[in-house]
This record gives sequence, structure tokens and C-alpha cells, in this order.
Amino acid sequence: RGAAVTEFRIAAIPADGIGREVVAAGRAVLDALQAGGGFSIAWEEFPWGSDYYAEHGVMMPEDGLAALEGFDAIYFGAVGWPTVPDHVSLWGLRLRICQGFDQWANVRPVQFLPGIESPLRKADEAALDWVVVRENSEGEYAGLGGRNLASRGRGGEIAVQSALFTEVGCERIMRFAFDLARTRTRRKVASVTKSNAQQYGMVLWDDVFRRVAADYPDVETERVLVDAMAAKFVLHPEDLSVVVASNLNADILSDLGSALAGSLGLAASANLNPERRFPSMFEPVHGSAPDIAGRGAANPVGAIGSAAMMLEHLGRREEAARVAAAVEAVTARGVRTRDVGGTASTDEVTAAVVAELGV
Ligand code: ATP
Ligand code: MG
Repeated sequence: RGAAVTEFRIAAIPADGIGREVVAAGRAVLDALQAGGGFSIAWEEFPWGSDYYAEHGVMMPEDGLAALEGFDAIYFGAVGWPTVPDHVSLWGLRLRICQGFDQWANVRPVQFLPGIESPLRKADEAALDWVVVRENSEGEYAGLGGRNLASRGRGGEIAVQSALFTEVGCERIMRFAFDLARTRTRRKVASVTKSNAQQYGMVLWDDVFRRVAADYPDVETERVLVDAMAAKFVLHPEDLSVVVASNLNADILSDLGSALAGSLGLAASANLNPERRFPSMFEPVHGSAPDIAGRGAANPVGAIGSAAMMLEHLGRREEAARVAAAVEAVTARGVRTRDVGGTASTDEVTAAVVAELGV
């Protein structure tokens, strides 16, 4: 009798646009890997998203979170389509899952791949690698505010959009960032705010950062304003290791990071519930890209990288590293989609990664 094979139950939510194409790509890679033995995956696919909205008036069913709760992980594509207002589709699906499952840490590595040209054009791109840690439960995306408030003498409608910062929320994401820094070659955490202009929440963030940093004397720290950090991403990326920032700031910086690495289509991410009380969710950083959807042109590398992060989360480190190495081998050989200067289709890149795995 062979050793028992671990079975993982994974919920797939391809959702909209190229989300469907890249989730299919990631699933193909994981299915090839499981064929090699060691573990198996029981997939269940949920047809939620903008088409579901057209039929039911909601992005996912009322009891959708309960349906997902028993899974070991969620593999997500992208949400958003021109037929549904963006804030409705985002809050109705992706943010509902992130908030409902307390996925408060969003980890977004910025990875430079061989064979893919970066707009940075630095000699030492291969040595660049940093990770954006995004506070994923509060901040500017707390959903606090309102419209149609009584206007005070200005005539037109007014709207208020507030950001929420809590000591608990700041502290847990910072400890997460410092713990992550301890696993990296360069033990450094940069904290990003705009605390010169936003004097309440972000000053609390700064206070908590100083306090938490004192518990990690072995980790180098720096505090950088978000505008200066945007410049630093371009001018001195070699100085970065872990970058921790609030929900909005980290969202913007991670898009910048993936663009510097060559394309939005390359970036992987994990929405983690670090306590593991609820399933975590793995998804590429990019959106549904309606402009290229349905043409087989989507770069699957970000989604495949997210699948590798999912494997790591599930304790399959070795297989996660094999997927990452296969992707590198494929881009190094010049098998690339159009967004990174190649001519290959989504399926061709995916097939090349599967072939490289050699299972
Ligand atoms: P969201 O609001 O969901 O973040 P967005 O409006 O920022 O979405 P994306 O869908 O992320 O936009 O993509 C922006 C553009 O980048 C797309 O229109 C597309 O041209 C390109 N792009 C994004 N992801 C990919 C990918 N995987 N492969 C190729 N091109 C991509
Ligand atoms: Mg975007």
C-alpha cells in the first residue's frame, strides 16, 4: 500500500473576463502536478460574477460564504464587467469574501522573471525582488461614508469617504510584515503612509509601527511617504524587501510593482486569514481586462504564480517551488504572451509550463 495521498478541496471562482481564462490555466498546472502523485485536488467551481448578476441581481448567492467555508482554499480569477458598476461587482463578490473570511493580509510579491523586459532597464534586475504586504480589512476600503448628506451651502451633492484604522488592525499587519521579513535574505520593513497630510489614522499607523518595530531589533526599518515610495519603486528598488502599507496605498504600489516587473499579468497574490479560521483566497493581481477577454491573449503567469502561493499555503512547499521554476524556465525560453512582448497564447504558455513540470 502506498502512503495516503492528501486531498485538498479547492473552490474555484473564475468570475469575469480573463479571470476565466487564467483560472483554467492555473487549474491545468495544478492538475498536471497532482497527476505526479503526492496530493490530489477536489475542485468545485462556482459560477459567480457578472453573468450571475445579470440573472440573479446579485454577484453571489446570499449563503455563498457558507458554501465556501469548508474548503481548504479559494482560487479566484477576476471580477468586473462593463455591465455592472465596478463598486457593485467588487463589493458583491471579492470584497465580500475578503471581509467575510477575515483575510486581513494581502501578500503581493513583485517578481522579475528571466526573459521579460522591465521598463526599469537596470543591469541587475535579476536581483530585484520585494513583496508588498497590504492591509486588507480596513483602511480606505472600510466602506465607511455616505452620499446625499445635507450639503452645507455649496449647492451640489456631497459625499464622505472615511478610512478606518484600528490599533489591532495596524498591529497584526505589521507583525505579519516583520515576521515575513525574518524569512527573507534582506531583513527590512518599509512602512508607507501619507501621515504628513492625513493626521489621524496614519499617525496611529506610525505609532503602532514604531512600537511593533521595537520587538524586532534584528529587522531594519524605514518610514516612507507613499509619493516618495512610488518614486523609490522606480529609482531604488534594490533597497526594498518588505513594504507594508494600507489598503489603498498598497493596491496602487503593487500595480506599479507588477508593471515595473514587465506586466500587470505577471503578479500573483494571496489574501490570507493567517489564523486559518477561514479559507484564504489566491488570485492574480490584475482585473478582468475586458479589452482582451475571450481572445486567448491573457498572460496566465500571475494566476499560475497565485496557484503556487496556494500550494505553499497548503504546506506543499516543494511543489510550489517546482511551479515557480517551471514558469521561469518558460519565460527564459521566450514563450511569452503579447503583453510581455511575445506571441504565445494563454494556452501555449500554460502548456509550456505543464511540459516543463515533466509530470
Ligand atoms: P481592476 O479594477 O479589477 O483592478 P483594472 O481596470 O485595473 O481592473 P485590469 O483588468 O487589471 O484593469 O487590467 C488593465 C489592463 O492591463 C488590461 O486592460 C489589459 O490590457 C492589461 N492586463 C491586465 N491583466 C493582464 C493579463 N493577465 N494579461 C495581459 N494583459 C493584462
Ligand atoms: Mg487595477
